[in-house]
Amino acid sequence: MSVPCVAVERERGEAVRERLAEAGVLDGDHQIAVDGDTIYIPVTDPAAVPADLDAAVVERDAAERDRPRTPAEILGYEPSLERLGDIVIVDEDDEGRAREIADAVMASDLPCETVLNRASPIEGELRVRRWDVLAGNGTETVHREYGHEFLLDVAEVYFSPRLATERHRVVEQVDSGEAAIDMFAGVGPYAVPMASRGADVVACDLNERAVEYLRENAVRNGVADRVTAIAGDVREITEEYAEAADRLVMNLPHSADAFLDTAVALAGDDCVVHYYDIQHEDDPFGPGRRAIRAAAGDEYEVAVETERVVRSYAPHEYNVCLDVRLTRI
Ligand code: SAM
Repeated sequence: MSVPCVAVERERGEAVRERLAEAGVLDGDHQIAVDGDTIYIPVTDPAAVPADLDAAVVERDAAERDRPRTPAEILGYEPSLERLGDIVIVDEDDEGRAREIADAVMASDLPCETVLNRASPIEGELRVRRWDVLAGNGTETVHREYGHEFLLDVAEVYFSPRLATERHRVVEQVDSGEAAIDMFAGVGPYAVPMASRGADVVACDLNERAVEYLRENAVRNGVADRVTAIAGDVREITEEYAEAADRLVMNLPHSADAFLDTAVALAGDDCVVHYYDIQHEDDPFGPGRRAIRAAAGDEYEVAVETERVVRSYAPHEYNVCLDVRLTRI
């Protein structure tokens, strides 16, 4: 394609390019070319080329430059982004900047159908947040994690891709034939891979939409025969599954302590509990340890096998996990 180019001797090329950039007439969409001793610098407006450059403007074929590939290349700074399937999540308080980032994401080569910005914290019993849709229109996606796929709608259910490594750590401990109960299962990111390792999993969640996705995800990942999905309050399953669990997952970090009596009722004779908590950095594990010991009472011996900081949650606050073995006395 023919575009206007400033033609100058090669020795002056870089100095002239800088002057053109300063003047705002550099054409970034086309490539600079060299022919013999002359360099051809594409410009957007021949009339705006500074006269003191003493350079000719000619029409010349110029190849198009590759489009910038990443949002950072387009923006000139590294935005904070998170991927969830084909959704890109922006974390920006400033609305204008969020929109600028969304435009850059859509213009980049990042595979992306929808860009969302957080519009609220994670709220309520169902732990769901509200979103601003900045580009695209769908909040449902398929997210892949450690060989499993999860269909979910971020506007209807809880899901955090940041917990992938932690979930994998827990799942790797699971043996075939175990009876596992995921007390707060969401769309199944613990329950489904635990079933893939051969566990028989009971997975409960208060959020009916999450349980619908959980059922679908069990089918998608070929483990529907080993996952029993229950929509409702986990406290209501204690009778049916009393003393049934070899493993319990308690991923409700703000209020898991309120469900420890339920956990003890569900625990079998030898049961590992993965207990998630959010606590101050000064004593991140003490409150969980004490709450579990109090709930176990004289019924179980309590051995804390792992204490792990999962991630930083807020200034001076950690999201932690305690792996605790309960052995009936
Ligand atoms: N484990 C899932 C994950 O990693 O994505 C979901 C964890 S999310 C932090 C906690 C889940 O607990 C939510 O899906 C919420 O609906 C569910 N929940 C809250 N209270 C509950 C209750 N009383 N019984 C069962 N599920 C409950």
